[in-house]
Amino acid sequence: MSTAHLTIDLNAITANWRALGKISQVETAAVVKADAYGLDAGRVANHLAAQGARQFFVAVVEEGVALRRALGNGPVISVFAGHMAGDAQAIASANLTPIINSLDQMLRHVEALPGHPFGIQLDTGMNRLGMEPAEWSALRDIALAQKPTLIMSHLACSDEPDHPMNEAQRLSFEDMTEGLDVPRSLSATGGTLLGPDYHFDLIRPGIGLYGGLPFTDALPVVTLDIPVIQTRDVMTGETVGYSNAWTAQRPSRVATISAGYADGLIRAMGAKAILHAGDIAVPLIGRVSMDLMTVDITDLPETPESLQLIGKHQSVDAVAGFAGTIGYEILTNLGARYSRDWRT
Ligand SMILES: *Cc1c(COP(=O)(O)O)cnc(C)c1O
Repeated sequence: MSTAHLTIDLNAITANWRALGKISQVETAAVVKADAYGLDAGRVANHLAAQGARQFFVAVVEEGVALRRALGNGPVISVFAGHMAGDAQAIASANLTPIINSLDQMLRHVEALPGHPFGIQLDTGMNRLGMEPAEWSALRDIALAQKPTLIMSHLACSDEPDHPMNEAQRLSFEDMTEGLDVPRSLSATGGTLLGPDYHFDLIRPGIGLYGGLPFTDALPVVTLDIPVIQTRDVMTGETVGYSNAWTAQRPSRVATISAGYADGLIRAMGAKAILHAGDIAVPLIGRVSMDLMTVDITDLPETPESLQLIGKHQSVDAVAGFAGTIGYEILTNLGARYSRDWRT
């Protein structure tokens, strides 16, 4: 096989889900938007549901419809984008719970689907989605009369525990929801780690389930092994790859491996990245090509069949670090070309 191989440990995902639930002591939902951060929403959600997860969040209605098909009836599937024009039939037939973000969405929802469950998103300062305090004050009594199933907001800086924005948003959320008899949710992975004041009735982790920061205690979920297609010896002074970006400083052995930026291994990783042959680290050299990368394996005792980019020696976040990005972006870009298997 010449395609790179991705292994996704579903038991590690459920262990991470349980660990976050243990930290918070409140109901733990699972965010499975963007196809569960690239790891397959249907498989991930089914595995979590079998372990007791009862609430899932997706970004848009189309994701919710696909997830309902995969999950069957029972679990709540909420949609962050809310109720958009043209979505009523899909929301009704897949029994989705839109998280209403504005007065317009509220009117659209109660007009098209009176009595159908919905949640509410409040904007506590992130200025991305949700009703601002003034809009909420005006709408609050009408909205509450329709019996929302959840009121939520989202933290902008929860990956920085000492950021004053965290407490400011929490206070704003408390202010806007004081005394209401509706379940409340403020925290994703980062907020869950900020402590009990941030947990309310439901936490909504995404990245922490998939082994990413800021959940430093997460079990690793993803392994990426890339086969070696060819090896060659180069002399001192010879160059490797596009733009002659790497020059051998000694007689070297170079392995060409079968993955590149078309597989989500972004080119900006460049010469900083490291791979592993068993326990031995070897450097990526030259440019990342579309389908190929080159690695200096001079120091290996023998030619490996494959090299590992993500796994026990190197997290998704470490790989993100080589490219100056975050683990979320590496995961959600994992390529369609990989052969995949899901360990249970
Ligand atoms: C993506 C998202 C989450 C999950 O965030 P993580 O940082 O991945 O845990 C939770 N809530 C909202 C509104 C989101 O957009």
